[in-house]
Amino acid sequence: MAREILPVADRAQVRAYARRLMLQHPRELVLALGLHALAAVTGLVTPRLLGGLVQDVANGTGDVRVDVVALAIAGFVIAQAVLIRFAVFASSRLGEKVLAELREDFVDQVLGLPLSTVEGAGSGDLITRTSRDVDALSRTVRHAVPETLIAVVTGAFIVGAVVLVGPVMALPALIAVPLLWGVTRWYLNRARDGYLRENAAYADMTEGLAETVDGARTIEALGLQRRRHERADRDIARSLAAERYTLGLRMVWFPAVEVGYVIPVVSTLLIGGLFYIEGWVDLVQVTTATLYVQQLIDPLDRLLSWVDELQVGGASMARLLGVANVPEDRTPGAARPGGKDLTATGVRYAYREDRDVLHGVDLEVRQGERLAMVGPSGAGKSTLGRLLAGIHAPRTGAVAVGGVPLVELPIDELRGEVALVTQEHHVFRGTVRENLLIARPEAADADVWRALAAVAAREWVEALDEGLDTLVGSGGQTVSPAQAQQLALARLVLADPHTLVLDEATSLIDPRAARHLERSLAAVLAGRTVIAIAHRLYTAHDADRVAVVEDGRITELGSHDELVAAGGPYAALWESWHGTAK
Ligand code: ADP
Repeated sequence: MAREILPVADRAQVRAYARRLMLQHPRELVLALGLHALAAVTGLVTPRLLGGLVQDVANGTGDVRVDVVALAIAGFVIAQAVLIRFAVFASSRLGEKVLAELREDFVDQVLGLPLSTVEGAGSGDLITRTSRDVDALSRTVRHAVPETLIAVVTGAFIVGAVVLVGPVMALPALIAVPLLWGVTRWYLNRARDGYLRENAAYADMTEGLAETVDGARTIEALGLQRRRHERADRDIARSLAAERYTLGLRMVWFPAVEVGYVIPVVSTLLIGGLFYIEGWVDLVQVTTATLYVQQLIDPLDRLLSWVDELQVGGASMARLLGVANVPEDRTPGAARPGGKDLTATGVRYAYREDRDVLHGVDLEVRQGERLAMVGPSGAGKSTLGRLLAGIHAPRTGAVAVGGVPLVELPIDELRGEVALVTQEHHVFRGTVRENLLIARPEAADADVWRALAAVAAREWVEALDEGLDTLVGSGGQTVSPAQAQQLALARLVLADPHTLVLDEATSLIDPRAARHLERSLAAVLAGRTVIAIAHRLYTAHDADRVAVVEDGRITELGSHDELVAAGGPYAALWESWHGTAK
């Protein structure tokens, strides 16, 4: 199956964004460019002085003051060095500033991504964008952009100087222009796609490896090692092919460009010599122009070698900006919920076209009700739970809170209404307190403790060396999966939405503790609507109503007692579970 990848920005978007970034700090930009221009002008003096010296010697002028000229040259070289130092400082500072803004933009965009998109695209692509692409772009902004600017400014001044020395002396150097132009165009036409392919192949490889590592036990249990090996080999081969392609481009381009540098110097000297013999120019002009053209190699080389880096950076930027092109999965409207009842009407949903996993679900959950969803695995409980929490929009039908479809609520508002807790949680690197405050940054310690108590986690947090200040997450104190689940639930208590969807949210906690936890949670959540997807039937037993989901439909709905009395599927389920759970 072709993986849906996150979009990539087009050239126009990248250009517009780069321009906006550059012009955001006009004063810093003018300062940096001005300093580089001054440095370039200072560098132009030496060839002119040397040209004069050659002329004097040729003329046989008696008192050639080599020492004075040498001293002057030394002075200008020092002045140029000092100017370059400040120029580099100014442009680096500007680069860092721009980079920081770019990173912030990107983080904002990633955090704003619709969850359904992130799940569809897989984490590999996002990981590659946040690591490799951000790195590539930092290199570009730190080095390539300032170096290119310096090269352009310096080059422009040198060309100007050659023209000033004698317009005809600028002609011989032009011989190299078609070669450099042609081969660089050839390269640029291919490079962007090549680098995009390279990064995409790398993303696939990362994705595959991350999957293998995450699912190592499953792979071992099912004996899938060979298949994973093959997938890794295939990904590596594709990545290698993509790298080879861009390497191939560079192998044509670099040597051609190197030749292109030498030609102007040689031609200026030779053709300039002919001009001199013809008497069109004097020695000062030939010497100075040749030295200038020689000087031009440096900025030209920088420019062209950074053009390559700019391509890499441009491709990365296209991928970073592309994240902003992800279409919104919600269409916020102006209507505000007129109540807290959650209703699903005629809900159908498909992960893949033509394969509905929910076949017209109607459900009304009143405010404050506790509803348990049970049923065989694969029946569609989690899917329904995600729709009820507004993560996905139904294909047809509607899920609404207080009469307003969830997909028409801005995401911040939605989270204040309905929240979902699944079995997957993440403990962030930071203190226990920081992990909980994500849900409500302004909460006081007392609230945090209350939330921990509600999920039966107060005791073990108190027992930690530094209590709420203990570092957890990668590199910190290890917390068990069950404790991580408790922290996720405590976050939910802090966030305090009026409706909660719990998808096997206590599955990792041992059964006895889980029942205790669910009861203390219920006490804290009194008055809140709770929809719990459960595989332990006592959750259903404790709930106000039970919905049995089978094959994408709600086949039974009623209180535990009613359903047991009805003798249908739930009664059978309860009978077998009750029998074995004892
Ligand atoms: P339950 O929670 O009852 O076990 P799910 O809602 O997880 O059921 O799954 C319902 C159906 O949807 C199953 O057939 C499952 O294979 C399919 N499904 C679930 N998640 C996805 C997904 N991300 N992509 C494609 N199919 C999915």
